[in-house]
Amino acid sequence: MDITIAAKVPLTEAEGPGKRFAVWVQGCPFRCPGCCNPQYLSFKNSSAVQISTDSLTEEILGYEDEIEGVTFIGGEPMAQAGALAKVAEAVRKAGLSVMVFSGYTLEQLEDQGDPDYPQRFALLQQTDLLVDGQYERENAITDRRWIGSSNQKVHFLSDRYLDLKERWPSAANTIEIRYKNGELTINGFPHPEITRKNLQSLKK
Ligand code: SF4
Repeated sequence: MDITIAAKVPLTEAEGPGKRFAVWVQGCPFRCPGCCNPQYLSFKNSSAVQISTDSLTEEILGYEDEIEGVTFIGGEPMAQAGALAKVAEAVRKAGLSVMVFSGYTLEQLEDQGDPDYPQRFALLQQTDLLVDGQYERENAITDRRWIGSSNQKVHFLSDRYLDLKERWPSAANTIEIRYKNGELTINGFPHPEITRKNLQSLKK
């Protein structure tokens, strides 16, 4: 089974608790104004890559000693939930945690009448932390780490991160900038005034 991936960062501290392997999937059914990853929305982006669940799992486990978990973000992870659930199950068996950002609300994901429910349920079963809901630019916030807008909720689907329930980090969101082999990559949660466009000027 393959997953269509837009980007991955093997070691990041900007996409959830601790050091994590982050995977941005390609394709999202939503079009939230202000989405910070518009290039990841089309399901047909030619620069996206296909990777098998086994290959991705193997790659993640290569960092097993350096990370505490993986983060699936996008794009919309729930659009490829069946394949991601297989990866999540394997990395959790190795003791890693799984965090998922979804534009769907948990209530929508738990709709058993939806034809995609079995795959989504499979991924939810392998998820420790779910951040749900579409990004709302008019409700943007910068004081709850990793959360983009006030409507988005954190769901603790296992007891792995229960210690964060009462003390979710309030530090400002961060970004990471990498410049390697002539390519500038950015991840994290930029302040609304910091856009890819003005960060491109760093290359000049
Ligand atoms: S759900 Fe997320 S990835 Fe999809 S459009 Fe909204 S902000 Fe962008």
